[in-house]
Amino acid sequence: RAHVCPTRGEITDDAAPVLVLVEDRTHDRKIEALRSDFIANASHELKTPLASILGSIETLQGPARDDPAGQERFLALMARQAERMKRLVEDLLSLSHIELSEHLAPRTECDLLDTAREAGAAVSPLLRKQGVTLEIALSDQPHPVRGDRDQLIQVFVNLLENALKYGRPEGRIVLAPADGDPRWPGMWGVSVIDDGPGIAREHVPRLTERFYRVSAKASRDRGGTGLGLAIVKHVLNRHRGELQIESTPGVGSRFTVRVPKAPESVSQNLAGAGNS
Ligand code: ADP
Repeated sequence: RAHVCPTRGEITDDAAPVLVLVEDRTHDRKIEALRSDFIANASHELKTPLASILGSIETLQGPARDDPAGQERFLALMARQAERMKRLVEDLLSLSHIELSEHLAPRTECDLLDTAREAGAAVSPLLRKQGVTLEIALSDQPHPVRGDRDQLIQVFVNLLENALKYGRPEGRIVLAPADGDPRWPGMWGVSVIDDGPGIAREHVPRLTERFYRVSAKASRDRGGTGLGLAIVKHVLNRHRGELQIESTPGVGSRFTVRVPKAPESVSQNLAGAGNS
């Protein structure tokens, strides 16, 4: 083989081969920027309630010292802000736990419709309290998947809670089957449908980004952390699944979860377990 001799510039047969390593660091830089954005956002989200708690303590020690009604008010405010910090820390921990396991495909088996029903049962007291109706329109057919049952329940809980938070007061939420779409062969699907105000088209592609919210105030007022759909997306990545978001402003939204059907052997196991 011929080589260009670096000192003499001539082509020789005996020059030492030169290894040139070209590394594209663009991806690394993007990841680094995302990471520092995330830390800045998380710190800001924690700092706001913390500042409010510290302010309340100062007021309780000073101006409100002899004002029982004021003390009640500030204690209630502190409790709300502490709850908000707790939710945020729980969501941050969930997200980090899921990200750590994201490359490990789940090894356990479960039924997708079962996880949706379980989530429905978990949120139904909250829905009832707010006058919202939940209709579960799922079949009795087995929908076996290779999946982490708790994580899939969390997916549906997050979607149902969003349908409640951003849906119509006294509205209707439906858990409906979404199988048989030829665009997703080999996947089982379940939709969470609400009749709320819907989401403007430009927001839809960004909803699963961490801390992305259509309205930060609306999310905070309803106890949101901005991490619910990011958690959904990471769980579904782990399951090689998909989240499809369709929304019509003024009509409502439909969030569809799709997870690959379990291989034949898994289906048989589940059917066998169901029969025994
Ligand atoms: P949050 O904690 O703010 O609810 P999510 O990640 O769960 O965070 O959702 C991101 C944003 O998507 C919400 O702040 C809200 O603006 C919007 N959103 C989610 N679900 C719905 C829905 N069913 N209807 C309307 N908007 C929704």
